[in-house]
Amino acid sequence: MGNNKSALVMSAHAADFVWRAGGAIALHQKAGYDVTVVCLSYGERGESAKYWKKGDVTIDQVKSERRKESEAAAKALNIHDIQFFDLGDYPLEMDREAKYRLVDVIRKVQPDFMMSHSFYDPYNTDHSYVTKALLECRMIAQAWGHNPGEKILGAPQVYLFEPHQTEQMQWKPDVFLDITEVWDQKRAAIECMQGQEHLWTYYTNLAQNRANHFRRNSGGQAGGKDAKYAEGFQSVFPRTVSSL
Ligand SMILES: [Zn+2]
Repeated sequence: MGNNKSALVMSAHAADFVWRAGGAIALHQKAGYDVTVVCLSYGERGESAKYWKKGDVTIDQVKSERRKESEAAAKALNIHDIQFFDLGDYPLEMDREAKYRLVDVIRKVQPDFMMSHSFYDPYNTDHSYVTKALLECRMIAQAWGHNPGEKILGAPQVYLFEPHQTEQMQWKPDVFLDITEVWDQKRAAIECMQGQEHLWTYYTNLAQNRANHFRRNSGGQAGGKDAKYAEGFQSVFPRTVSSL
């Protein structure tokens, strides 16, 4: 791992990290962080309709296509490490063994921050399930009694990235990140997601809208930063500061 700062991004399915955190990932890689992405499933059953509609495909073929897309996107974002747990989707479930596997990754990466899905998602319960599991694994990784002798985890912030159909998700951003300088990388990663072409324009528009919120909250007409593309996040834990 070296001495670089690091981040850990959770993705329920193979493409989630691209739409929701691709800019944050590319930006932090560029700033010298080592970003690790864990895809818990390929989204092979629930988020690969385009492949299934073609007919005459097996689940292994769909998984393999989604993995290829994901790896290509990871390359476009210059991701340090991407791991596939292949736990299955719709529904995605983690037993104790899978949770301990994730705890091992968390302890190894020792992230300065983590990212995951919104707390609530009635359209896609896999997404909210992952965040619940991540918080559980974060807690286990902090426990001195879990695999004593290993380096325990500190208290990295968890940022919840923007879900689909935002207003239905009880998700409220408190951070906007300017991703303008890495937008080309994010768009290239988005275009690797051949199975979900219907979302390309949607997530481009979303980044432009969030940039509007960035500009307004950074000073607006009075001298705000001229962001063209941004991502929004909701932080889970309080910040600890010495000045405001
Ligand atoms: Zn998903």
